[in-house]
Amino acid sequence: MVKAVFPGSFDPPTFGHLNIVERASGIFEELFVVVAVNRQKNSLFTPEERLDFFRQLIAPYSNVSVHLCDTLIVDFARKNGCKVLVRGVRSVPDFSYEFEVSILNKSLDPGIETFFMPTDPKYFVLRSSAIKELASFDGNLSSMVPPIVAKALKAKFPPSSGLPEAERLRT
Ligand code: ADP
Repeated sequence: MVKAVFPGSFDPPTFGHLNIVERASGIFEELFVVVAVNRQKNSLFTPEERLDFFRQLIAPYSNVSVHLCDTLIVDFARKNGCKVLVRGVRSVPDFSYEFEVSILNKSLDPGIETFFMPTDPKYFVLRSSAIKELASFDGNLSSMVPPIVAKALKAKFPPSSGLPEAERLRT
């Protein structure tokens, strides 16, 4: 009976993230989705908004909870009795990055393991940054993010403000 953490920026959550939540919740006793609070990172949604998306999205899963974290993720995991960090991978560049992060986390706490979960092929192109850019051009997001996220993205990018917001996100 192992508890796991699925950490991320989730700015915003996509169907790719939710697919990992669904699969990991079927494997682990409990899954803690952890929204990383990185005040330096130029995020579109506040940590509280991202937490709120997940509160609604995890409703079907009785063993999944969502949390904010502004400390090292291994510290969060240890404090909550979790032995595993789950990370999704879409591609070799993703794996290469995630592998380095896993080595760093292992050096911080050797008792915590990272499990990599390959994306479902349906979602391998989904990337929060590209979705924000698409939203800024009023693109159709229905196959990429849940309706509550699509609605919130539309609200962040009213048609007249598309280009400046897209520029801001590129920097
Ligand atoms: P980060 O936390 O690195 O800023 P994200 O918040 O976008 O990245 O993603 C959190 C985790 O979900 C990461 O492990 C990332 O590789 C994974 N992920 C993102 N999009 C997908 C997807 N479409 N399919 C599977 N995993 C994904």
